Amino acid sequence: MAHEEVNWSANYAYRAAAITRPRTVGELQELVTQATDAAPVRALGTRHTFNDVADPGETGMLVNLAELPATIEVDAERRVVRVAAGLRYGDLALALAAQGWAVHNLASLPHISVAGAVATATHGSGSRNGNLSTAVAALTFVDGTGELVTLRRGDADFEGAVVAFGSLGIVTELELDIVPGFEVAQSIYLGVPYERAAEALDLAYSVSVFTDWSPASINQLWVKAAGDAPVAEASVRELGATPALHKVHMIAGVDAAATTEQFGVLGPWHERLAHFKLDFQPSAGEEIQTEYLLPRRHAEAAIAAVRELTEKITPLLLISEIRAIAADSLWLSTAYSTGDDDWADGAIAFHFTWKREQAAVERASALLEAALAPFGARPHWGKVYTDAARVPGLYPRFADFAALVQKYDPRGVFRNAYTRRLGL
Ligand SMILES: Cc1cc2nc3c(=O)[nH]c(=O)nc-3n(C[C@H](O)[C@H](O)[C@H](O)COP(=O)(O)OP(=O)(O)OC[C@H]3O[C@@H](n4cnc5c(N)ncnc54)[C@H](O)[C@@H]3O)c2cc1C
Repeated sequence: MAHEEVNWSANYAYRAAAITRPRTVGELQELVTQATDAAPVRALGTRHTFNDVADPGETGMLVNLAELPATIEVDAERRVVRVAAGLRYGDLALALAAQGWAVHNLASLPHISVAGAVATATHGSGSRNGNLSTAVAALTFVDGTGELVTLRRGDADFEGAVVAFGSLGIVTELELDIVPGFEVAQSIYLGVPYERAAEALDLAYSVSVFTDWSPASINQLWVKAAGDAPVAEASVRELGATPALHKVHMIAGVDAAATTEQFGVLGPWHERLAHFKLDFQPSAGEEIQTEYLLPRRHAEAAIAAVRELTEKITPLLLISEIRAIAADSLWLSTAYSTGDDDWADGAIAFHFTWKREQAAVERASALLEAALAPFGARPHWGKVYTDAARVPGLYPRFADFAALVQKYDPRGVFRNAYTRRLGL
């Protein structure tokens, strides 16, 4: 490319030869039709992944949909919103809230594209909340032959096609389930003992545990209570936590101005469910993330296993976040469950925000992967991980997904180094 295109955190430079921004679906179909396995294409959303998942490679072309019409259409009767793939959750949230609607959850930041987030099983928190992909009711994509395909919930291939990290096609629009707008109060507490951290995840609609794994106790508990289900402060104190007296950022030393409203003040869902405000820089910026999801029932043992690594990981760490996610049936979802397996009562996610030191982060990730492997931990598709060879074995429907790749991309125009490492 004429000048270097990098991802959000600048830990990855795209190798693609060019980036294109089609203005119509017809133009997009034309681009895909002209692509070959030697000159592939791949969708690029808002670049908030930390690895090469979006990159088609040196001979390929990145396709960004930001210039397609910015559709947001609520169908109140069917309780869905039709949304253009390249829009950010933050923009969708503002439009929904203005009409009295909501999506069930948000990730930690509203800056990410809807299609990019859905494609990697991006999640927020809440033991009863499925990840963001579970709200998809239908998706329309240009497949590898240039055809426009729509799959709806209930269609045979649907559950395999939602979380596909761009391997089946370029999604042009989605229908997402909506719920009536609701209010949320966010309160921050300090210092829960590690032994009670997993329990704390069930306190409210959405709970995040933040820790740098220092020995004494976890650092912060972010409790986001739905307006109709407030949390009694006594039940949080009973866990050993005390309310924060000042507005806090989860990363020590970073200005708290970027974080959403705290101190239990009720407000609209879209101004509380994410940790960061749309018009501010989220997180630290100069960072790399890794994350592993494993069955909720192994939470305590997994916390103990990570604590064993404290001396090795803490010097590289900015902060770690632990969240709960409900189980779902999307084949490549990191919370996928057959319904009667280890994952049936949901997933727990162990997230790590690291200093931007790629080689050291890969070493630390390998240590975590070894420590969490006994629990069947699945890496987040969009973050750094090292052991791709193990990944297909972590998904009971992986072979069925590989068959979908053959079906929708028979010419191999969406394949890249990332999918080849997975044997796709
Ligand atoms: C500060 C920060 C905070 C984060 N917080 C969270 C969090 O709370 N929870 C969580 O789970 N993750 C989190 N993430 C990770 C992030 O949500 C995911 O990596 C997500 O995939 C980013 O979407 P994107 O569009 O920015 O990514 P991109 O890198 O642009 O795209 C991601 C993937 O989606 C594909 N894709 C994009 N658009 C399309 C399309 N139109 N059709 C088909 N495929 C497409 C791409 O090919 C690529 O494979 C965070 C990341 C950052 C930087």
